[in-house]
Amino acid sequence: MNPGSPEPAGVLTVDLDAITANWRTLRDLHAEAGGGETGAAVKADAYGLGAAAVAPALAAAGCRRFFVAQLAEGMALRPLLCSSHGPGPTIAVLNGFPPGADEDAALTPVLNSPGDIAAWSGTGRGAILHVDTGMARLGLSPAELEALAEDPSPLDGLRLRYVMTHLACADEPAHPMNAAQAARFAAARARLPAVPFSFANSAGIFLGRDFASDLARPGCAIYGLNPTPGRPNPMRPTVRLAAPVLQVREIPAGTPVGYGAGWTAQRPSRIATVAAGYADGYLRSLSGRAIGRHNWQDVPLVGRISMDLSAFDVTDHPAIGPGSMIELIGPGNSPDQVAARAGTIGYEVLTSLGARYRRAYSAA
Ligand SMILES: *Cc1c(COP(=O)(O)O)cnc(C)c1O
Repeated sequence: MNPGSPEPAGVLTVDLDAITANWRTLRDLHAEAGGGETGAAVKADAYGLGAAAVAPALAAAGCRRFFVAQLAEGMALRPLLCSSHGPGPTIAVLNGFPPGADEDAALTPVLNSPGDIAAWSGTGRGAILHVDTGMARLGLSPAELEALAEDPSPLDGLRLRYVMTHLACADEPAHPMNAAQAARFAAARARLPAVPFSFANSAGIFLGRDFASDLARPGCAIYGLNPTPGRPNPMRPTVRLAAPVLQVREIPAGTPVGYGAGWTAQRPSRIATVAAGYADGYLRSLSGRAIGRHNWQDVPLVGRISMDLSAFDVTDHPAIGPGSMIELIGPGNSPDQVAARAGTIGYEVLTSLGARYRRAYSAA
């Protein structure tokens, strides 16, 4: 809803200071581990928090290399990252794109296949070569890498800026995949022209020296998700989502609430109806499990989450009335905690955040 709207709407507050502080923390950790630069993944609209606000704040904090997934994301980002002095930050497109498609936005393609290399061969453009070391997702397969090592001529007339790979299990430090991928990546680099390399995502930065590189690519930890699951979160929280109570209803014991009569009051109850539902990214799988917060107290969600509404049992919270705000996500109710209750990961909670909230950004 637009800020001047008289309609009660949810408010998503994004703390740009916390976001830039988190990025600096990651940059310093990566440098301490022997790494070079630290960039930022701002794909999917900066993990749902708004790339138009987040990316310029990170650029002002010193971030010079940004990663998006799609061409359209890169095209939208470029005008926001223009620089009056010298070339702006680089924007790499992880999914790649065909030559020319970026017009004059000077985006950097990630080359994920022999076909991508062939398409960009001879263009003289800067590019990042992606080799797959254990995801079987994007990047050159071991056989494709071997063929390129035997005949590197497709790389002629290409400015290879980095060779990159992506960790599959960085959030599980003891997983044998981590060391295996580090070894495969080192072997792959030895078969390719000597150019800088890019390795760790957020969790990878916490794995230490073997995962340091010329360019780290953190995303989630910048936005406050815990890059060290099972251990205390070293990052600052960046998001607060609160939604208004539209009305409060007194119901006798035995009254069902919501679709499917999914919850029935066991005592005379006060039920607050709140203006946020699954269409706003308040995941339906949180039905019966979510916890809201009001004045530092837990307020249980009851029944099924609807498209635009959800219900909270405020019987024990007499101060909550129409117009009160219930915090759905916040420092005491982190995206990771919400995700655990929904049976998903914090990434999905953030990237699901809906478009109907009023968004407020603290100045960086
Ligand atoms: C999303 C992504 C990242 C960032 O990962 P986080 O786990 O969010 O830090 C880095 N590299 C690639 C290739 C990605 O797709």
